[in-house]
Amino acid sequence: MRPEVLFSLFAPVESLDGVGAKLSKLIEKLCGDKVANLLWHLPCGYIDRRFSPSIVNAPDGGIVTLTVTVGSHCPPANKRVPYRIACFDDTGNISLVFFRGHKDYLQKILPEGSTRIVSGKVEYFNFAPQITHPDHVGTLEEKDKIMVVEPVYPMTTGLSSKILLRTIHHALDRTTELPEWLDKEHKKRESWLSWHEALLKAHNPDGEVDISPLAPARTRLAYDELLANQVTLALVRRDIKSLAGISINGDNRLREKVLTALPFALTNAQKHTLEEINTDMASDSRMLRLLQGDVGSGKTIVALLSMLNAVEEGKQAAFMVPTDILSRQHLATIEPLLKDTGVKIALLTGRDKGKKRTEILESLASGEIDIIVGTHALFQKDVIFKDLGLSVIDEQHRFGVHQRLELTEKGKQADILVMTATPIPRTLTMTFYGDMDVSKLDEFPPNRKPIDTRVAPISRLEEITAATKRAISDGARVFWVCPLVEESEKLDLAAAEVRFEYLQHIFGNKVGLVHGRMKGAEKDAVMEAFSSGEIDILVATTVIEVGVDIPEATVMVIEHAERFGLAQLHQLRGRIGRSDRQSTCILLYGMPLTETAKSRLTIMKETEDGFKIAEEDLRLRGAGEILGTKQSGMLEFKMADINIHSNLLTTARNDARLMIKQDPHLKSERGIALRTLLYLFEQDAVFKNLRSG
Ligand code: ADP
Ligand code: MG
Repeated sequence: MRPEVLFSLFAPVESLDGVGAKLSKLIEKLCGDKVANLLWHLPCGYIDRRFSPSIVNAPDGGIVTLTVTVGSHCPPANKRVPYRIACFDDTGNISLVFFRGHKDYLQKILPEGSTRIVSGKVEYFNFAPQITHPDHVGTLEEKDKIMVVEPVYPMTTGLSSKILLRTIHHALDRTTELPEWLDKEHKKRESWLSWHEALLKAHNPDGEVDISPLAPARTRLAYDELLANQVTLALVRRDIKSLAGISINGDNRLREKVLTALPFALTNAQKHTLEEINTDMASDSRMLRLLQGDVGSGKTIVALLSMLNAVEEGKQAAFMVPTDILSRQHLATIEPLLKDTGVKIALLTGRDKGKKRTEILESLASGEIDIIVGTHALFQKDVIFKDLGLSVIDEQHRFGVHQRLELTEKGKQADILVMTATPIPRTLTMTFYGDMDVSKLDEFPPNRKPIDTRVAPISRLEEITAATKRAISDGARVFWVCPLVEESEKLDLAAAEVRFEYLQHIFGNKVGLVHGRMKGAEKDAVMEAFSSGEIDILVATTVIEVGVDIPEATVMVIEHAERFGLAQLHQLRGRIGRSDRQSTCILLYGMPLTETAKSRLTIMKETEDGFKIAEEDLRLRGAGEILGTKQSGMLEFKMADINIHSNLLTTARNDARLMIKQDPHLKSERGIALRTLLYLFEQDAVFKNLRSG
């Protein structure tokens, strides 16, 4: 149960004073829909209002807080002229200027003859100082409240900074000190403030140093966030590992058949990886292994052979992938290889409903199906295995930690192999996968020619089309990827359709279109037509990004490549260069091209090394984008920045590991405090598996 002190922090922002439907929408867009989200929304700057000179000393362009006597009001003759109020002190005069000022209101807050505190930016106009729309106007008693350093927050259009500031204050008012979850010694060593002090400090910067992500208060908050992440991962691992595993040690009979049927020999990297997996599977503790291999490194066959190891022992295996297309493709790759083995393989996706689904579920439960390939549909509650021995999760970054937990539930003892094509820098691996054992496919199948990558402006479309025509007459098949229009699937699609028509005009019925909005069966039909060579050009939105394997495809055109992330471009490009034929990737860009975009495209041209590309991407764009989790918000750290705080991450990991070892059920004083921390960062799912108290 979520600790009661946190209830009010997880209430919707609308529960805050002065926040209605309209404002809550804006805040949600800015940082999230819960009060806690406002706490994590830290200032990006500040305004120092502590400078309080006399009028004559108020510098042009400076932010000042003045004590003035209000002189006469000069309402304008017409609406285009501003309302002016003359003010003075012993040293000089200054005007306050209000466009479309309301007379009644201004006379109320600035009555003639009164003394007022006025804060804002001084500007000289015709040699006379003035403040246009002062930020604050108050009475003498309010001087201390006005003469402060005011935080400036990242904004969104339509939201006023004053209102945001006020709302964040209301949110902060709901916080109190929480039990300390940091190790006492560690906290002392770092001279960190308590959580509550640090939070208040982070929101009340005193100057430039407090805005830096390395400011002590912010560092502590970042550490808290990383610690929550690492404790969660440590708990997941603990749960997975603590369940007794089963020793799986197949007799090779199926694997031998498949290896003989394969048209190629395994690479050394594949062999080595399989040895590591076999050893893990043979041991009677549970396997939890991450297989990292760049696009095209040949992970699928490793997955298949590992699954067959389980099937040889009379167990079942599940192969989970993020998309429908991919699940079908894996089935299409694997099924022929199993032809003479008697292994029964089936598919289960969200598309399977009613009777068909029931039948699949029945044969899974009876053990008739040996290998099941599928999407999220495999996570459903009613999917029950007779005897699941191995779960393989492909392209795992699309799945969350929570889903990993559900999977843990499914096969109580099943070994787990997670495969990722995204070359993830080490720091990210740690935040996302925690303590998994890692195997690497660091070698590509032989005979691959490097992909020739070219960068060209979209204005050269006709030339590119002509070149495409030549390539096709030489037997090439072409992926044509259409621009990603931010936040608008509709526009995305429109662009793809326009290009489809254009290409159809030139290539006739040899062109196909596939996009995310198509019905499953339609998608399959188009993919099948492309795969079989019935069509030569496949116009696609990014649905082809993940995993599609069509070795005959040797040309890829990517329009508006500047709009894609590097990792995404790398994944896309990985769809070609899968045979011994020369492949070409053409990155078309639109104008104007920013410097960053230019350097991104240059990197793509210069290297095919996924790790190098990922490091660059991390540098240029940030973690969420690399893992493709921006939408799901899964790995979006709110205060930690792994570019900056990577050393904190290492500490947090060691801290979490030690803690879970000493107090596996989080029952000690610190353990209980850590539970609060996990709730605070919404890692509650992990408690399902954690014994209470
Ligand atoms: P990924 O790691 O991206 O999932 P795949 O498993 O799809 O890569 O393999 C990419 C391509 O390489 C496939 O066409 C596959 O048949 C082929 N392949 C895999 N292993 C080898 C190998 N040892 N020798 C030659 N080709 C291979
Ligand atoms: Mg793959």
